[in-house]
Amino acid sequence: MSLIKVDHVSKIYQGGEGAVYALKDTNLQVLQGQFLALLGPSGSGKSTLLSILGALNPPTEGKVFIDDIDIYGLDEERRADFRHEYIGFVFQQYQLIPYLTALENVMLPLAITRHSDQTQREMAQKVLEKVGLGSKSLRLPNQLSGGEQNRVAIARAIVNDPVILFADEPTGSLDTKTAKEILELFQALNKEGQTIIMVTHNLENLAYVSHAVQIRDGIIEKAPQPVVGGVI
Ligand code: ADP
Ligand code: ADP
Repeated sequence: MSLIKVDHVSKIYQGGEGAVYALKDTNLQVLQGQFLALLGPSGSGKSTLLSILGALNPPTEGKVFIDDIDIYGLDEERRADFRHEYIGFVFQQYQLIPYLTALENVMLPLAITRHSDQTQREMAQKVLEKVGLGSKSLRLPNQLSGGEQNRVAIARAIVNDPVILFADEPTGSLDTKTAKEILELFQALNKEGQTIIMVTHNLENLAYVSHAVQIRDGIIEKAPQPVVGGVI
C-alpha cells in the first residue's frame, strides 16, 4: 500500500494576469521508506506539490491520501493535528527563530506535546546530537554556519518523529562540501527508515536518493536517468 497517493490533483492560482495552472490533473504514489527527489525547472510546481503533500495547501481539484487519510477532507483543526503527527518540514530559508538558541528552536514543535520541559530539552538535545550539533546547542542561529543552521532546521523537523520529512531545496545555498554532508545526513535518516521527499534542482543529488520524479508543465513524470554533474 502506498504511504502517499496523489489522485488527479490540480492546483490553479488566480494571479493578476489570470489563472496559473501550477499542477494539472497529476498523480503520484510514494511508498514508505522511499527517499524521493522532486526535480523540475523553476516555476514548474515543485514547491506547490511539496506544500500540498505537506498538508499546507489545498489542491483546487483532486485528493491526497496519506496513510489512507483523505487529508483535505479533514477540517482545518484536524488537518493541523495531522500535520503535527505526520509531517516534518525543512524550509528553504530554514526559518529559525533568531533570538532562540539551537536547542530552543528544536524544542518548538514539542511545546504542544505533554512532555515536561526537562523531557523536551532532553529530546531536543538528543536530536541535535544525531545531526552532529550536540556541542553547539546553546548557540544562536547567527553563531552557526549555513550548514549548521540547516542541521538545526532538520533537527527541528524530525524531533517529533514525523512519518514524512519534506525538504525544499535543502542544499541550494550551501557549498559543495557542506551540501554533501547534508545529503549524507538525509541518507542516514532514510537508512533508519525515514521517508523523505526533497525538492532539488541539482541532478548530482540523485546519487543520494532512492527514487526521483520530475514535474513538467504541471504534470509529474518519471525522472530521466541522472546525468552526473548536470543541473536542471
Ligand atoms: P517551483 O517550486 O517549481 O519553482 P512553484 O510551485 O513555486 O514552482 O510555482 C508554480 C507556478 O505557480 C509558477 O508559475 C508560480 O508563479 C505560480 N505560483 C506559485 N505560488 C503562487 C501563488 N501563491 N499565487 C499565484 N501564483 C503562484
Ligand atoms: P562551514 O564550513 O560549515 O560553512 P564556517 O566556515 O562558516 O563553517 O564556520 C566554521 C565554524 O565557525 C563552525 O563550527 C561555526 O559554528 C563557527 N561559526 C561560523 N559563523 C560563526 C559566527 N558568526 N559566530 C560564531 N561561530 C561561528
